[in-house]
Amino acid sequence: MGADDVTEIVPPEGGTMRDLLRAGSDGDRVDLGAIDPRSMPGLPAAAGAGGGRKAWARRQVEVIGAELGRQQEMLFAAAKAAQPGAATSAPTTGGPELGGDRPGRVLLVLQAMDCGGKDGTIKRVAGAMNPLGLHIRSFGPPTAEELRHDFLWRIRRALPPPGYVGIFNRSHYEDVLVARVDGLVPEATWRARYDEINEFERELTAGGVTVVKVMLHISRAEQGERLLDRLTEPRKYWKYNPGDIDARSRWDDYQAAYAEALARCGPAGAPWFVVPADRKWYRDWAVAHLLRETFDTLDLGYPPADFDVAAERARLRGLRTGQGERRVNEA
Ligand code: AMP
Ligand code: MG
Repeated sequence: MGADDVTEIVPPEGGTMRDLLRAGSDGDRVDLGAIDPRSMPGLPAAAGAGGGRKAWARRQVEVIGAELGRQQEMLFAAAKAAQPGAATSAPTTGGPELGGDRPGRVLLVLQAMDCGGKDGTIKRVAGAMNPLGLHIRSFGPPTAEELRHDFLWRIRRALPPPGYVGIFNRSHYEDVLVARVDGLVPEATWRARYDEINEFERELTAGGVTVVKVMLHISRAEQGERLLDRLTEPRKYWKYNPGDIDARSRWDDYQAAYAEALARCGPAGAPWFVVPADRKWYRDWAVAHLLRETFDTLDLGYPPADFDVAAERARLRGLRTGQGERRVNEA
């Protein structure tokens, strides 16, 4: 059977992706060295072997994507039903308010070294969902205004409104990663941030935000290949930043910073997942499943009508045969 024939979601093998990829949070470091960036936890035998796996996984991402789109629509519909206008109004400048009785939202946090595949993941996985319900935000070096506030200020403002699926392309974790490695703030400052982040994420969870944190785990060798590609292919120059080589030269420091951030900032409701990411097709397949499983925990459904369906049907039939409809159509 070819990859194109499979129209059902084939479950991962050996457990859920949430179980297989959850970062072990014992101690104060996650042992990233023990996770092979080329490994493929959960990939079922049905994927086949060799080059066929890639086509199979790409097709599965499309199939899972349709399901993600359906789940996203239910999230959006629930928010709209709970609070007319909520899911359609633009977020306020102060960031959407949190509250236990507010309808749900999902927030996917993507972190990775340069070339780790954050953009590609968003394109492939989020690309399957309805743009109407997505809230995608990227974080670069803080602006002068952002620097005048605490590090979570810009993050709060970027939260998805109720009913939306938010995606953070980099996040508040940069403030314990690059800030630490580059010594942008004193150690006491970035160390204190672990607790601040945990407190913040507990607040999010309590406020109805389902947080999924994903580290795309690539090898130094793979990053080298991808950087070279960006320097070889003129169409990719725009993705390259000379600073990437500086960050690469601090590879071990970054891995240590990730290892500690992942271990220290995994409050119960906001776990970290480490996705082996040297193979792009596996990465996308894994993240798609993580999202699907996360939606499943929300047990979403379509909201019931808040109007009399039979009466509305009768009105519609009346209009169809009567004068009213013709007048509407002619107008
Ligand atoms: P890119 O994701 O390739 O557009 O790069 C964004 C850059 O912004 C990376 O070099 C990050 O390290 C940097 N960046 C993001 N957040 C922060 C932060 N809080 N402090 C300093 N640099 C940051
Ligand atoms: Mg970059």
